[in-house]
Amino acid sequence: MITAERKPMEEILDYISPFQRIILVGCNECVTVCAAGGRKEVGLLSSALQMAFMKDGKTLSVNEITLERQCDPEYVEELVAHISQADAVLSMACGCGVQEIAKRFPQKPVFPALNTKFMGASESQGVWSERCKGCGDCILGLTGGICPVARCSKRIMNGPCGGSTNGKCEISPDVDCAWYLIWERLKALGQEDKYEDIIEAKDWRPSWHGGPRKIIREDLVE
Ligand code: SF4
Ligand code: SF4
Repeated sequence: MITAERKPMEEILDYISPFQRIILVGCNECVTVCAAGGRKEVGLLSSALQMAFMKDGKTLSVNEITLERQCDPEYVEELVAHISQADAVLSMACGCGVQEIAKRFPQKPVFPALNTKFMGASESQGVWSERCKGCGDCILGLTGGICPVARCSKRIMNGPCGGSTNGKCEISPDVDCAWYLIWERLKALGQEDKYEDIIEAKDWRPSWHGGPRKIIREDLVE
């Protein structure tokens, strides 16, 4: 999932302080799972913003709406019925959702209430960790299902480096060495010999070479 965290209150207030009526838009997908921008967080932020405005002797009208998926134009369309009654939109989705609303309503100021972080997984209650950088050419089949692109601090394709100590990365004793994890996993699979295979220099062109990426599925295009 895409993970995100709420921006500091001061920054959000800076964005919306010139306005009196906003739509606060949550998203039911990833940001709900990581407790950053779902229905509950929309309600909490709405109350906090209104209280902050009251403290300054002002009032803020907040229309709270949580869309099924904010990165999907079909659901963004639901805002059409409300947009004329708002001075601005504050989005609690990832950056994809914010941009989708900005695209649909070019005349309306749209602001992010979250900082989008990374593609990750839940590690334990309240903890999410980065797992994938969307490199466009997945090599998990070579590395025992553990990603050195996202999880090795140096993105080494044939590790570990000399900084790996007791299974931890040299950047911090709290960070697992990805290549230690890869070795342990290959061992558990009885595939230690795979570790000896040299992984060729990665072709980064499917990643960030050549500007914004696009997927076109001809069989689905109308
Ligand atoms: S190899 Fe690339 S696509 Fe696969 S998990 Fe790592 S970053 Fe993601
Ligand atoms: S210690 Fe391990 S995870 Fe850290 S940079 Fe070196 S190989 Fe990568």
